[in-house]
Amino acid sequence: MKVTRIIIGLIFLSLSSLWAQNKSARPKLVVGIVVDQMRYDYLYRFANRYGENGFKRLMREGLNCQDNHYNYAPTVTAAGHTSVYTGSVPAIHGIVGNEWMDRATGKKVYCTDDSTVTTVGTTGKTGFMSPKNLWTSTITDQLKIAQNYQSKTIAIALKDRGAILPGGHTADAAYWYDSKEGRWITSSFYMKELPTWVQTFNAEERALKFTKQGWNTLYPIQTYTQSAGDNMEFESKMAGESAPIFPHSLQGGNPLELIRTSPYGNTLTKDFAIKAMQEEQLGKKGTTDFLAISFSSTDYVGHSFGPQSIELEDTYLRLDRDIADLLTYLDKQYGKDQVLVFLTADHAVAEIPGFTKSKKLPGGIFDRTKAVSDVKKALQTAFGDLDLLIGEDNSQLHFNHVVMEKMGIKREELYRVVRKAMDKQDGFSELIDLQAINQSNIVTSYKNIVQNGYHAARSGDFMVLLKPQWLIGYKTGTSHSTLYAYDTHVPLLFYGWKVKAQELSTRTEISDIAPTIANWLHCMEPSGSIGKVIQSK
Ligand SMILES: [Zn+2]
Repeated sequence: MKVTRIIIGLIFLSLSSLWAQNKSARPKLVVGIVVDQMRYDYLYRFANRYGENGFKRLMREGLNCQDNHYNYAPTVTAAGHTSVYTGSVPAIHGIVGNEWMDRATGKKVYCTDDSTVTTVGTTGKTGFMSPKNLWTSTITDQLKIAQNYQSKTIAIALKDRGAILPGGHTADAAYWYDSKEGRWITSSFYMKELPTWVQTFNAEERALKFTKQGWNTLYPIQTYTQSAGDNMEFESKMAGESAPIFPHSLQGGNPLELIRTSPYGNTLTKDFAIKAMQEEQLGKKGTTDFLAISFSSTDYVGHSFGPQSIELEDTYLRLDRDIADLLTYLDKQYGKDQVLVFLTADHAVAEIPGFTKSKKLPGGIFDRTKAVSDVKKALQTAFGDLDLLIGEDNSQLHFNHVVMEKMGIKREELYRVVRKAMDKQDGFSELIDLQAINQSNIVTSYKNIVQNGYHAARSGDFMVLLKPQWLIGYKTGTSHSTLYAYDTHVPLLFYGWKVKAQELSTRTEISDIAPTIANWLHCMEPSGSIGKVIQSK
């Protein structure tokens, strides 16, 4: 009698757990968060003043992949967002930079340019954009295909490329910010006119209201002990200001543009994302919907003031509150176990050269103008032609192949001449022939990184590798794009649906994100995916 009861009990238990498993085979909503230019260490450096419900909640309750890196260069925004969502690398998905020179036409192309579509939501060309330059599908596409196109995908970012590329080819909407009128806009690729709720949001003129408050620190400025001083000569000045110091008025030039370089740009994005969840009824109709959010202001602030600035520290303390707001909203609306959240970044960033110099650390500013002029002079001396070099972007030099052929210039000869001129430049480390990466004198792991970032149709001929912490840039501010760890090491946190709290110190790569989500959601990985499923508890 007792045994029968136990058996019946066991059958019931396993049946009900099977039922529960089937029922929760997918969460109601997936929320992807990309924090533009977020370095891994920011999770810890400012932690003493993060609240319990923002970054720290993701770290405490989620899967924290601590050694997560980009596996290609150039490490820039468009390539980064695309790689997160495609599980792939520029060599395969084709987004080799924010812009590139198209080998076939010789023309410069912006990553999301599309002259066949028009702006929706404002006048001007800021909406002539779509994902048409992207060669592969995204995890957002795959989730949609897996549900026979019944689910919704919405992508949001101040930067067009931060929204369009994550949204993939099948997004219901990608929205980005137009600073001429301070509006969220889209393109005719997605819709004919903005939904009423977006028009209403725009009419509230929130961007203008934010900038009118000016930007002062959240706490008394003397308590910002994780950062260098406020008035540093190597920080950039905001429009209309005579020094890079608090409080920032946000009133110089066009305030609707200046909001980008302030924490308010992130708050505006968060407010708009929550509105989108409400109005579009995301996750409320029995399908697994996808919301892709990218916080762009961290990048603008980082470029201007650098990783050691009070501006950056304050931006992250405020972003932490925005993330807490988002998580609280998800809790109330869906419950933690019905939402899958991940957070990562599209690239990290170098220290400002002026900062490293002041602290006796190696690094410097590479004189691009002098280098280009020296290369051109060397080319003229060797070949008698000034128009061989036709472009330089993404640290790559493009040469005119037609002229080379006509004049009988061999690639090896060209390399030798350029190399000799580059050798004399301060900060130069190596010149890599991108058609013979394996023969270059760089370490094996870097060869893979360079290979992953190269495609013959959109990349240059030779890549200029500078020494670590050498920047092609200006006297103030900083940047990113290299293959060095300071540009590749970014946070990766998974949280919510079926995710157990865990710290993983095994190396993971950006291309692992999409296949891991595909594995958890039982759908196919994106078409160019090369990542592996992250092994967790
Ligand atoms: Zn940037």
